[in-house]
Amino acid sequence: MSKITLIPGDGIGPEVTESVLKVIAASKVNINWETINAGEDVYKSTGSFITDELLNSISTNKIAFKGPITTPIGKGFKSINVTLRQKFTTYANVRPVKSIPGVKTPFNNVDLVIIRENTEDLYAGIEHFVTDGVAESIKVITEKASLKIGEYAFQYAKKHNHKKVTAVHKANIMKISDGLFLDCIRNVAAKYPEIEYEEVIVDNMCMQLVMHPERYDVLVLPNLYGDIVSDLAAGLVGGLGLVPGANIGDDIAIFEAVHGSAPKLAGKNIANPTACILSASMLLDYIGEIDSAEKIRKAVYSTIKEGVYITKDLGGTATTEEFTNAICTYLKNNY
Ligand code: NAD
Repeated sequence: MSKITLIPGDGIGPEVTESVLKVIAASKVNINWETINAGEDVYKSTGSFITDELLNSISTNKIAFKGPITTPIGKGFKSINVTLRQKFTTYANVRPVKSIPGVKTPFNNVDLVIIRENTEDLYAGIEHFVTDGVAESIKVITEKASLKIGEYAFQYAKKHNHKKVTAVHKANIMKISDGLFLDCIRNVAAKYPEIEYEEVIVDNMCMQLVMHPERYDVLVLPNLYGDIVSDLAAGLVGGLGLVPGANIGDDIAIFEAVHGSAPKLAGKNIANPTACILSASMLLDYIGEIDSAEKIRKAVYSTIKEGVYITKDLGGTATTEEFTNAICTYLKNNY
């Protein structure tokens, strides 16, 4: 039985991770969850936002499932999400964005995978005031991390039979930093002649995605553009409640939805747990429970397509719990 660290998070985190536990139990995969939280509440009781107990648990188990965690804006502590990604060098943030039948959007043919560099760029956290009224943030791009994310993107494309990789950048303005990123991706692309390669400037990419999302396949981006384009892409398929993700390192992986803690929805039993449930399916793929991962995806898609139990973000009235129970019922009835 796999032992996996579970970080419920805060805001809607505990509600949507509860859905994950129920759905995985209904799929009959046995997981020994080691639940250890992080964040402001943990700080109040322990004096640390991330305890040694949590770090040791992730180091030992090598796999974690994480609910969203709130980060204060413009002040306070450093993002726990970013800290964990950097601490465990989960360098590839993989976010499949796919149209789901039954979800009403202007597009029904989106099938993208966003591969975001996850350890550096403006997320390096090097910021200071140069003098009163002048602040500086340092954008760090290294050859090592750029080659690594490029290699990951092309390997991913090859393994999953994708035809094209698009590198997204702003090297026309940030000629040195984004220029280095682009040079590295180009060097990797040259090793994969069977996969089409193209480069698109990030602002144009945003317009192209909202007009012709079907033209794109795998996108590889530095950290910040990857973050922004992920939310934009989520909007193409029905919103953040639907898009899963994984932070992949050489030997450690942390699975989490793209969305944050959605404080306005917290405690109301109305958040859509789909993104977290699909992130859990990615976790099951990762541990080799491929059949169960596929069954869960089918159960989620069928429940949404059926349209009886649909959460508020998709125009329905079902609670998080009712939607989750419908997925579990589908699993029980069909497998
Ligand atoms: P958010 O993703 O929490 O919410 C953005 C919008 O999407 C809101 O309208 C919200 O209601 C909606 N939404 C998000 N998840 C949803 C779901 N499951 N079902 C239905 N609707 C959903 O982003 P935000 O408001 O910018 O950030 C809130 C907090 O979350 C901030 O503190 C931010 O730092 C944090 N955050 C954490 C993570 C993470 O833990 N990985 C990621 C992003 C943001």
